[in-house]
Amino acid sequence: MSTGPVTLKDLADEGRLLWCYCGACCHEVEVPPLSLGLPGNVPVPNVARRLRCSKCGSRKISTRPQLHLEPLEVLRARYRRNGG
Ligand SMILES: [Zn+2]
Repeated sequence: MSTGPVTLKDLADEGRLLWCYCGACCHEVEVPPLSLGLPGNVPVPNVARRLRCSKCGSRKISTRPQLHLEPLEVLRARYRRNGG
């Protein structure tokens, strides 16, 4: 069992998405891990350094493995319903 950091390829193998969050404008997206054009062996936390927010251009990005197995849109829709 590997104890190293999760890489883009690990995510892709598990069929999970990469979660990217902008600390400047709170923009968040989930993208297929290998869609960024980065090598599969890049650890997920390191991906943040290579990204820029597509909305505000900030480099204050956090990247993590997708937290939920459901797409963000589904979770948002549910939150909206419950949040009244
Ligand atoms: Zn931003």
